[in-house]
Amino acid sequence: MRGTKRLSRAACAAIALAVCGALLAACRERPHETVDFVMGTVVRQTVYGPSAETAAREAVERLRALEAALSFHDAASDISRLNRSSGGPQVTLGPEAIGLLERSLEFSRMSDGAFNIMVGPLVRRWKVTADRPDVPPPAEIASLVRLASYRDLSVDRDRRTARLARRGQMADLGGIAKGYASDAVLALYRARGVRSAIIDIGGNIGLLGSRPDGRPWNIGVQDPGRERGSYIGYLSLADNSVSTSGGYERFFVAGGRRYSHIIDPRTGYPADSGLASASVVAPSAEESDALSTAVFVLGASKGIGLIQRRPGVEAVCITTDGTVIVTEGLRGRFTLTAPEGTYRVEYRYRVGPDAAGPARQR
Ligand code: AMP
Ligand code: MG
Repeated sequence: MRGTKRLSRAACAAIALAVCGALLAACRERPHETVDFVMGTVVRQTVYGPSAETAAREAVERLRALEAALSFHDAASDISRLNRSSGGPQVTLGPEAIGLLERSLEFSRMSDGAFNIMVGPLVRRWKVTADRPDVPPPAEIASLVRLASYRDLSVDRDRRTARLARRGQMADLGGIAKGYASDAVLALYRARGVRSAIIDIGGNIGLLGSRPDGRPWNIGVQDPGRERGSYIGYLSLADNSVSTSGGYERFFVAGGRRYSHIIDPRTGYPADSGLASASVVAPSAEESDALSTAVFVLGASKGIGLIQRRPGVEAVCITTDGTVIVTEGLRGRFTLTAPEGTYRVEYRYRVGPDAAGPARQR
């Protein structure tokens, strides 16, 4: 009896040691990290676990396939085929393009056109990343605004067809496709047995699980006024998605004014809503991507008004005058690290005429 007891104590000690060892190993585990250029942007992966390398390689292949189907610039993509046949017959598209077009229409409707899947003609004309961009004349902008009508896109999911009603109309998935791709990569990681990973597709970040030691990931929020990789603070999150739309990402300057790549489809001009950037946290990166574009166009108050009805969706809006507006649900999950006197944080828990109280400050 005594012998058995001693043996079981020894066994317990051995098990405890083994558990501690495994935990330590998990803490020390090094991730597989990669940087690639796909979908016109930098793709960073941080993947833990034995299948990390395979999963990361397959992820890049998957992204290249998505780019081939969804690109606005590649003449052979599904989206380009649709755009070329604008004003003509419906076209049959792959399931990915059909599904994403359909959901993009939903985001266009729910944001009342702040996110607008039909912004293509304006994006093409403003061509902010071209060698010699220019400011189009107002009459030209007005006619392009008329073309950017999401009501003219019809999608038949069962038949897998889509159609643009008028000649010259163009769908552009640029504001949502990277988020969608980030979700697709997380699904691929899961299928490969990965439990802990980050995928970042040009600022559309998908988080699988938490860090191997169980702590949340810390995701830097870019300082819009400084070089890439300088952060004003960070978000501590697990199993979530974060997308940032920023006027600093792609723009040109003319006549002392800055024109960014995010267009307000209602005016036809680059968005000018008082925001330097909008980061949206959501359960999926498709949602955070579409909504970050919409919030950037709408500005802080209307933008937060739009997202606050959606479960699990939160935002960090940085205004051009240095206020960081953080929605109440991120209290305790956002840490400001910018030096004193540069940025100040306001927590918003209700906006609009039915506001339950004033914005609180820190
Ligand atoms: P993001 O960086 O996610 O905000 O997406 C910006 C990209 O989406 C641009 O480069 C355009 O291709 C496209 N885009 C620009 N303005 C809009 C808009 N208002 N709604 C939807 N997509 C847009
Ligand atoms: Mg977006």
